Amino acid sequence: MTTTRFQSAAEAPAGTDQRKLHVVTFGCQMNKYDSLLVEGKFKGQGYATTDSMDDADVILFNTCSVRDHAEERTFSWLGELKRAKESNPGLVIGVMGCMAQRVGEEIFQRAGHVDIVAGTRKFQHMTELVDQLLERRADPDTWRARDLRLVATGVEEDVEFERGAMNYTGGQHAYLAVMRGCDLNCTYCIVPTTRGRVQSKPIDEIVSEAQWMVSQGAKVITLLGQTVNSYGEDFAKPEGDAPRGSGRQGRPSLGDVLRRLQQVEGLVRIRMITMHPAYLTQDLAEAIRDCSKVDRFLPIPAQAGSDDVLRAMKRGYTTDLYRKRLAMLREIVPDAELGSDWIVGFPGETDEDFEQTLAFAEEVGFVVNYVFKYDPRPTTHAADELPDDVPTAVKKERNQRLLKKAEEIATLRLGRYVGQTVRVFVEDESDRAEGVLHGRSVHGIPVSFAGDPTLIGTEVEVAVQQASAYGMHGVVVTGEEAALTR
Ligand code: SF4
Repeated sequence: MTTTRFQSAAEAPAGTDQRKLHVVTFGCQMNKYDSLLVEGKFKGQGYATTDSMDDADVILFNTCSVRDHAEERTFSWLGELKRAKESNPGLVIGVMGCMAQRVGEEIFQRAGHVDIVAGTRKFQHMTELVDQLLERRADPDTWRARDLRLVATGVEEDVEFERGAMNYTGGQHAYLAVMRGCDLNCTYCIVPTTRGRVQSKPIDEIVSEAQWMVSQGAKVITLLGQTVNSYGEDFAKPEGDAPRGSGRQGRPSLGDVLRRLQQVEGLVRIRMITMHPAYLTQDLAEAIRDCSKVDRFLPIPAQAGSDDVLRAMKRGYTTDLYRKRLAMLREIVPDAELGSDWIVGFPGETDEDFEQTLAFAEEVGFVVNYVFKYDPRPTTHAADELPDDVPTAVKKERNQRLLKKAEEIATLRLGRYVGQTVRVFVEDESDRAEGVLHGRSVHGIPVSFAGDPTLIGTEVEVAVQQASAYGMHGVVVTGEEAALTR
């Protein structure tokens, strides 16, 4: 269970002898969230954070393992630090996150100048690990060189963060992990290995964390989880007269979380990433319908449109189940928009399988699509058991074709909004066009329009005049004018 208490604390000014931390974060929003937690903990220990590696006393890499390329990037960054460590032996270099979890102490073989490796359920102990290392360095008679390498990679422990001494530093758009890990076993995916089993955060803590973030400037909160809509499935079912949630057998559900967050004063928008079709429930759809702060954009990766490929991926659903859940959702939230991830060139994928994927993407009408070529990940079932038999050239060709199809689909979908008015949360100023602002509609679509920067952090009504596959452009209208074009 994740435990946190939230209050803001004055940060001590950076003194010359104050130790400095630099964190490099690769990968997903969950990593960005975890890096903020780690920074907050070091600041609570009197550290300052620095943007420059040259100034840092401690350099931490929060790593990603989703593709080989991500791991190689970390090793190349580590390689560049070898000389810095030779000229400054007091420097502490730590590696945390998914690659630390997957590779563990083998990291020392490729990067002998690394001092600490902490996995995805041990990074909360990074301050203690650094202190332990510094104590050992200060006592060379007792501790030999090999003792000056610390590894912590168990995934059994819950992630717990004491936030008493933290300031929220995430800006107007905050990310909040409502759960960690994944209980599914898609054959291509490294996440269950690197992040462990599902661990949901109690609702009261989610609400107090959200209030803490909003009290310090957050306006939009994106709820994070590998399968965020399976929230609460790991809780024990309530016994006796314990309060009942809206989830399975009375467990708390993501729908319950949304209803509670809808009540948070000052919170403007609530978003969610990433979902799984098997956990798309009527309760969740009704919560999205009933909570005006919740975006009507749902990232529900399909990954493929062929049942044979979905079976080989062990995704746990068929295209028919996806269709049924989607029909239920659109019955309750007719204007819901969807996003998807796709893997092309999965072992055994035939031309016909791929045609089914193109057709399924068009049938559902996803407004956002991320397309990836299959990349075998060591220790996954697919890498160990399924031959990577789709030639690279075919993977590339299918990747291009699906990207082109995705562009056609999004152009059609976004084109439907021309002439309509949409509610937009204003995020920032254009860095290319003077007097132009950027925002995101309640359907998750980027929108640009002329406006005064004082509108940033508020919601406006925009009458859409143009649309492309990647966004819409329009003019701000008043409430009355908006009502005319709804
Ligand atoms: S649902 Fe599948 S793809 Fe997503 S994190 Fe879990 S195992 Fe990985």
